Amino acid sequence: MGMRRASWLLWVAFAACRSASAPAPAESFAAIPKFDVHTHIAPGGMARARKLFAAAGIEAAVNLSGGETPERLAAQIAAGASGRILTFANLDWDGALRPGWVEAQVAWLRRARALGAAGLKIFKSLGLTIRDPAGALIAIDDPRLDPIFEEAGRLGMPVAIHAGDPKAFFEPVTPANERFAELSLNPSWSFADRSVFPSWEALFGQFSRRIARHPGTTFIGVHFGNDPEEPARVAKLLDGNPNLYVDTAARVGEIGRKPPEALRAIFLAHRRRILFGTDVGVGPRHLTLGAPEPRPATEADAPAFYAAHWRFFETARRGIDHPTPIQGSWKVDGIGLPPDVLEDFYHRNAERLFHLAPLPRPGAHPRSRPPAAR
Ligand SMILES: [Zn+2]
Repeated sequence: MGMRRASWLLWVAFAACRSASAPAPAESFAAIPKFDVHTHIAPGGMARARKLFAAAGIEAAVNLSGGETPERLAAQIAAGASGRILTFANLDWDGALRPGWVEAQVAWLRRARALGAAGLKIFKSLGLTIRDPAGALIAIDDPRLDPIFEEAGRLGMPVAIHAGDPKAFFEPVTPANERFAELSLNPSWSFADRSVFPSWEALFGQFSRRIARHPGTTFIGVHFGNDPEEPARVAKLLDGNPNLYVDTAARVGEIGRKPPEALRAIFLAHRRRILFGTDVGVGPRHLTLGAPEPRPATEADAPAFYAAHWRFFETARRGIDHPTPIQGSWKVDGIGLPPDVLEDFYHRNAERLFHLAPLPRPGAHPRSRPPAAR
């Protein structure tokens, strides 16, 4: 065998090896601390969450699932405090809008704040399933709820709201539905029955009016302002409401389908009010990396999940995987944010929002840097 042929064979072997082991070995990401403002940590899951976050360079997080009772909330806050994990309280919708219920929730918010809750999270059940004593769905902007949102503003508690869901969840569940795989796995996520559920557009309208009605209350529109499919519309909502922030939780797949230049421009124009979030869920017996997959996630899947985020926000690579494959079989285009915008997005905006000291700067990104680069 001649020298030339040997080196050619070597090259073929090398190329095959490279294509089999994406991401490319030279890939490394910014050494910037991360503040994940959108996680759900179940009681008993805190030690596991802290380990997961440490491995990924997540230096701080918000647990949106603090609960609706003082006992659970206090325990969640105490467990989180040791790991720089802030806790949001939730509302008890049992008996919603019965006489005295609003007053009880306002008192609960004060109690939650006194216990150390950093904010209030409202789940998508508001607008979709929660009913008043007469049996009617309660709209997100139902005026009877106003005192709760006003009190959150007085207490300095940001209100994270999940309104609606991907538009495909409001369409018939057929193989033609682009989220068919996900809806087949989670049939209760379909809101296609218009005799039961409001339209997507109606819910977004309710959400928009709620934000506008309380300029003294800070809101976080989770899942990219609850309209990741129309970033330009979210940008308009941000323009019209200085009290609104949005997070990116579990929606890189949606925003990443858009022309990257336009999306990048929105991130730059609103650099102070877009927050990094993932929708990671951790419990003693479950791990959800942004969205439930048919095969339950394990810690072994986490490095690829987080790297898909860093690759999307930090590089301009085209046709890359997004972090939550079940949410769509398409590829996304990275938006290559400049370093100073990444600093705002990854952690500084959250530090300002929650009045926290700057997070410690990691010497190097522990898991994203391949061993060879150390
Ligand atoms: Zn969530």
